[in-house]
Amino acid sequence: MSDYQLFIDGEFCEAASGETFESIDPSTGESIGTVARAGRDDAVRAIEAARAAFDDHRWSGRRGSDRGKILAAVAKGIKERAAELAELESRDSGATLVKAKGADVGGAGFWFRTMGQYAAKLDEPEPLPQTIVPGPSYNYLKRDPVGVCTAIIPWNFPLQMAAWKISMALAAGNTIVLKPAEETPCSATVLAQILKDAGVPDGVVNIIPGPGPGTGEELVTNPKVDKVSFTGSTEVGKQIMQMAANTVKKTTLELGGKSAQIVLDDADLDLAVDGALYGAFFHSGQVCTAGSRLLLPESLHDEFVGRLLARVADIRVGVASEKSSTMGPVVNNKQLDTIVNYIEIGQKEGATLAAGGQRLTDDGLDKGFFVAPTVFTDVTPDMTIAQEEIFGPVLSVIRYADEEDAIRIANGTVYGLAAAVWGTPTRAMKLAERLQAGTVWINDYHLLNPHYPFGGYKQSGIGREHGYLGLLEYTEPKHLHVGMDPTRSTKRWFDMTIPQQR
Ligand code: NAP
Ligand code: MG
Repeated sequence: MSDYQLFIDGEFCEAASGETFESIDPSTGESIGTVARAGRDDAVRAIEAARAAFDDHRWSGRRGSDRGKILAAVAKGIKERAAELAELESRDSGATLVKAKGADVGGAGFWFRTMGQYAAKLDEPEPLPQTIVPGPSYNYLKRDPVGVCTAIIPWNFPLQMAAWKISMALAAGNTIVLKPAEETPCSATVLAQILKDAGVPDGVVNIIPGPGPGTGEELVTNPKVDKVSFTGSTEVGKQIMQMAANTVKKTTLELGGKSAQIVLDDADLDLAVDGALYGAFFHSGQVCTAGSRLLLPESLHDEFVGRLLARVADIRVGVASEKSSTMGPVVNNKQLDTIVNYIEIGQKEGATLAAGGQRLTDDGLDKGFFVAPTVFTDVTPDMTIAQEEIFGPVLSVIRYADEEDAIRIANGTVYGLAAAVWGTPTRAMKLAERLQAGTVWINDYHLLNPHYPFGGYKQSGIGREHGYLGLLEYTEPKHLHVGMDPTRSTKRWFDMTIPQQR
C-alpha cells in the first residue's frame, strides 16, 4: 500500500493501474514516501464522483452559512495537525520550517476560515437597479455555484494552494477535483483526511496526485467539468486555455511573473534593502510574485548595491527542516539546471555577477538542490534575465533615470502579476497606480490575504482569486426578472411577434 493514496468519493484508494511514485525531499534527494499515481481513468472516476455530488445537491443544497461552519471546522483541523503538516510540507517541498508553518499551514487555515465567512454572503440575493421600461419589473441577482471545478496547482506552495482552490470552490457550493503537482503531493492527502473528518460530504472534494500530461489533461477536457482553475507556468497555462476552449469551460489562470521592485530615492534604506532581498529570495525565489527585478535610481545605485551585497551574505542557506535555515533548496534537479542555465545566459549577455552564481554542495548540501542567492548588476531591461521568469534565487539589478523610466521598465515585460515600490507612501502610491500589476505593495512584499483579490495583468493570468471578488469567480451570476404587471394587455412588446387580440 502506498503511503499517500488518492482520495476519491470520500475513500482513500490506490490508482486503478496500481502505479506509484516516490516523493523526494529536495534538501537530501531522499524519498519521503510512495504516492499512488493517478492516471486518466482515476481522473475520470474522480470527476464522476464530483459530478454526482454536485448534481444531487448534497453540498450546493446547503445554505452558505452551513457550508461556512464546515469550512471553519476544516480550519480547526488544520490547526490541530499544524506541526505534523509543517514538517511534512518542509520535507516534501523544500520550504523552510518557518515558511511551511506560516505561509503554507497558517495560510491554509486562514483561507478556510475566511472563505467560510464569505460563504454566508452568497445566501442573500443581491438587488439590481429596478426599472419600469418597457414595463415594471423586479430584478435581482442570485449567485449559483458553477458546478464541478477542477484545480491544477504547482509545487511552490502546495498546501496553501490546495487550500485556496478548495476553500473558494466549497464556499460557493461547488464540488472539486484537485491535482497537486507530482513534486509535492503529500500535504494534500493529509488535507483530504481533515476535510473528511470535518464533515465535507463524500465526492465533494477529490484529490488525485498524478502527472500533468494525461491526468491533468483529463481535468481540463472532460465535458462533465464546468470550471478549471489553474496555477502554474504561463507556458502550460496557454495549453490549458486551449484545451478548455473545446467545451467552453470557465477558466481562471494564475501564471508566471517578473515582478519589479522600484526603489525611490527617498526610501528608508534599512527597510528597502532587506525588503528587496526578502522579495527576491523568499522560498529560493520560487514564488510567482518574486520581486526578481530591482530598479534603482542612478543617485542611489552604488550605495544600495553595496548594502545589498553586504546583507545577501546573511541569508542562511541550508537544509529546509533545520530551524537555522532561512533559505532552502530549489525543488529538483531540473529546476536547478534551469536556474544555472539562466545564470550562464546572464553572464554571456554582459550582466555583472555580483553575488552567488553557483550550486552549493558543501556542509552536507551535496545531496540536495541548493543554489546560492545570486545578484546580477548592470542588467539592462532587454536582457533575458530581465525578461524571463527564472523561478529561482536570481535578482537582476537595473538602473533607471527618472520615474517615467522606472514605470516604463517595470511595465516592460509580458507579465503583470505583482510589483513593489519602496519610498515615501504618498509619492510611491502615485507611481504604484501606474504599474500594470494585479498587486502592488508599497514598503512591503509578498503579503497575500484571503480578503484581497490576487491575479495577473497581461500574460500573468486571467481572473482573480481571493476576497469576495475571487469567490465570485466560482459562481455563475443569475439575473432574475419578475414581470410586475403580468397581464397580456400591458405587454405591448409581445405584439412585435404576435399581435394582440382585439
Ligand atoms: P507548471 O509546470 O506549469 O505545472 C503546474 C501544474 O500543471 C502541475 O500540477 C503540473 O503537473 C500541471 N501540468 C503540466 N502540464 C500539464 C498539462 N499538459 N495539462 C494539465 N496539467 C499540466 O508549473 P510549475 O513548474 O509546477 O510551477 C511554477 C510556475 O507556476 C511558475 O511559472 C510560477 O510563476 C507559477 N505560479 C503562479 C502562481 C500564481 O498565482 N500566479 C503561483 C505559484 C506559481 P505535474 O508537474 O505534476 O506534471
Ligand atoms: Mg517532493
